[in-house]
Amino acid sequence: MAPTPKECDFLVIGIGSGGLAAARRASGQYGMKTIAVENSRLGGTCVNVGCVPKKVTWNAAAIKETIHEAKAYGFSVEETAPFDWTSFKHKRDAYVKRLNGIYEKNLKNDKVEYLNGTASFVSKDVVKVVGQDGQEQHVRAKKILVAVGGRPSKIGVEGEELGINSDGFFDLEKQPKKVAVIGAGYIAVEMAGMFHHLGTETHLFIRHDKFLRTFDPMIQDKIMEEYRRQGLHIHTNSSQSKLEDLGNGWKKLHYKDDEGESTMDVDCVLWAIGRTPEVEKLKLENAGVELDEKNHIKVDKYQNTNVDGIYALGDVCNAGAELTPVAIAAGRKLGDRLFGGKNDAHLDYTNIPSVVFSHPTVGSIGLTEPEAREKFGDSVKIYTSSFTAMYYAMMEPEDKGPTAYKLVCEGPNERVVGLHILGQGSDEILQGFGVAIKMGATKADFDSCVAIHPTSAEELVTMK
Ligand code: FAD
Ligand code: NDP
Repeated sequence: MAPTPKECDFLVIGIGSGGLAAARRASGQYGMKTIAVENSRLGGTCVNVGCVPKKVTWNAAAIKETIHEAKAYGFSVEETAPFDWTSFKHKRDAYVKRLNGIYEKNLKNDKVEYLNGTASFVSKDVVKVVGQDGQEQHVRAKKILVAVGGRPSKIGVEGEELGINSDGFFDLEKQPKKVAVIGAGYIAVEMAGMFHHLGTETHLFIRHDKFLRTFDPMIQDKIMEEYRRQGLHIHTNSSQSKLEDLGNGWKKLHYKDDEGESTMDVDCVLWAIGRTPEVEKLKLENAGVELDEKNHIKVDKYQNTNVDGIYALGDVCNAGAELTPVAIAAGRKLGDRLFGGKNDAHLDYTNIPSVVFSHPTVGSIGLTEPEAREKFGDSVKIYTSSFTAMYYAMMEPEDKGPTAYKLVCEGPNERVVGLHILGQGSDEILQGFGVAIKMGATKADFDSCVAIHPTSAEELVTMK
């Protein structure tokens, strides 16, 4: 006989970015009896195997760049000083563990009951939770949120399991000497950049002629050119047929690229070809929840699934950008709507800024130039600026990095509908301009703001 279910107002499955935000809003702010279930470490992808350990590693890679550049500013720095990957990794792990503890405390402070286990639907309002010890309990909830995120996709190449994915990047105890990164999106570009700057010989395999193909063409061209200038090896129009174990941690990658068929011996292969929603264990069929063709849970703009009382948000749903702040914002809005009486609360998925932590960073919000031309035709006006930031004035020509900005405007008032930036500090620059664009700023509004000199960002308010 099934155990007597626990009862609650709100059951949240998955305590990652979105689930945590929604659970805390429902319980901490609106006093709903809330239970949250997690089968791994608290905080989800972002905290454990995503944004947080990634950014810390990116910082290390950026420091390595600065060590190289310091010479141009008169410092005598030993550039060959080795980077201690292993102790850095352990320190990073300890930081993440501290964050896991803070998340647990936050749940407690907001009176969210936390169950450690894997959740699956028994019916549309009852969920079974199986703990690590095999113990089962049932929870009956008035409303259920699915926020289970995703996992790295598989590529289907023979010997694939000899490589790692982005989760495995954070498990690496030793720095690889030579790595093959396969993929062309955020993760491939970020991880290839970090490996390279930390001193690993890095080969990036992309299946077309450009990477970051969802970004504005100016960004694609400039970042690709810059990665090549920095010495990353980029294999275009490539595919992989096999990965073989050579022993001693080395592998042979069989591949094809513009140069023809070849093999390469590497001590690490990292597959980074996208992510897949983590839906299989949920037994969504028991609740009748519909998926799209890529296994994302179908939701409307309010995060409603097709089943009354069941909601989904974050990476598991088909709403759009797979980003932490998106999942958090959607979770808070959902809490406000379901329990705070704000009947129309929902996340506006337009004009979401995002940054690629490449070297240098890339920032993007709104429409790319081709998207704007398709939508607004001849009323589109483009402003661009490409220059060498003052930071590089002291450097030799071969050490000067690029800065490139593009403003996409539309209509007689030149409303800014897209902004694409590449260069040092782009990650920090974009947020404020994002506010302006979200408010509907025009080119004249940009120009009416007095420049801050000397900065790179001042170019954005003085474009001709
Ligand atoms: P998640 O954070 O993935 O949380 C889902 C949780 O559900 C997990 O903890 C999982 O264990 C749990 N779960 C799954 N199934 C079950 C089940 N059946 N029962 C119980 N629990 C379950 N975004 C940014 O904004 N900026 C970045 O810089 C950035 N960098 C990234 C770098 C990497 C390498 C990766 C992989 C992602 C990065 N992201 C970044 C994306 C970001 O991490 C995700 O968009 C975000 O974590 C999604 O949040 P979520 O709540 O949808 O899911
Ligand atoms: P992405 O969707 O960004 O990119 C994956 C890319 O890999 C595809 O666009 C495709 O590019 C390429 N690809 C797909 N299949 C293959 C294949 N068989 N062989 C070779 N290449 C292939 O996924 P990621 O895994 O990089 O990241 C997942 C998501 O996580 C991102 O979309 C982003 O939302 C989030 N993220 C955000 C970060 C941030 O905010 N800084 C950082 C990291 C992740 P193409 O079609 O050009 O070949």
